[in-house]
Amino acid sequence: MSQLADDPRWIFLQQEKWTCKSCDQVHTGLPDLAFRNPSGKVFDDLEKQGNSAFTVSGNILTEDLCRYDDYYYVRTLLNIPINGAEERFAFGVWSTLSVDNFASYLSGFDSGVFSDEGPWFSWLGNRLPLDPPDTQGVKCSLHPQTGRQRPEILIEDPDHPLFRLQRDGASLDQILDILAQCGHDIRSSLPAPTRH
Ligand SMILES: [Zn+2]
Repeated sequence: MSQLADDPRWIFLQQEKWTCKSCDQVHTGLPDLAFRNPSGKVFDDLEKQGNSAFTVSGNILTEDLCRYDDYYYVRTLLNIPINGAEERFAFGVWSTLSVDNFASYLSGFDSGVFSDEGPWFSWLGNRLPLDPPDTQGVKCSLHPQTGRQRPEILIEDPDHPLFRLQRDGASLDQILDILAQCGHDIRSSLPAPTRH
């Protein structure tokens, strides 16, 4: 049995809902970290629209799709396994696709049945507020999912710390550190960890 099952913080997080002292919101489990748009001022300035507003030309940002000039991005999940748990921690990030693979993604966006099942080459489109090295532009593979689930990305640069985190998983303390580095420090909302 993992130590995590006996960790009062983890037991607390398994409650259905809890109120966060960092953001005053009610969370269920660990909060994900989601980005509104790909990192960059040109994307910050785009008005966000519903997915149904996506059009075949012009610069546009929707919930899950973005095109800017000749660049195509989709909203994805970068999952980090949590050691000792079934759950995974997720960054909601944007990642690039080529124009052809973007078309394949659109072909299955509603049905979950893609003309090409991937995985597709991708560059991570967000600058995560973590210790260096930078995450924007890191090489990834993008894996479309069935059942209207967001696609998942896997970091493909073995020298990048995120690669090792995805491969080896993270401890609860590492996840809490990551959240704190990203401006969402939930540690004061949790009970004290057990000393072993
Ligand atoms: Zn919060």
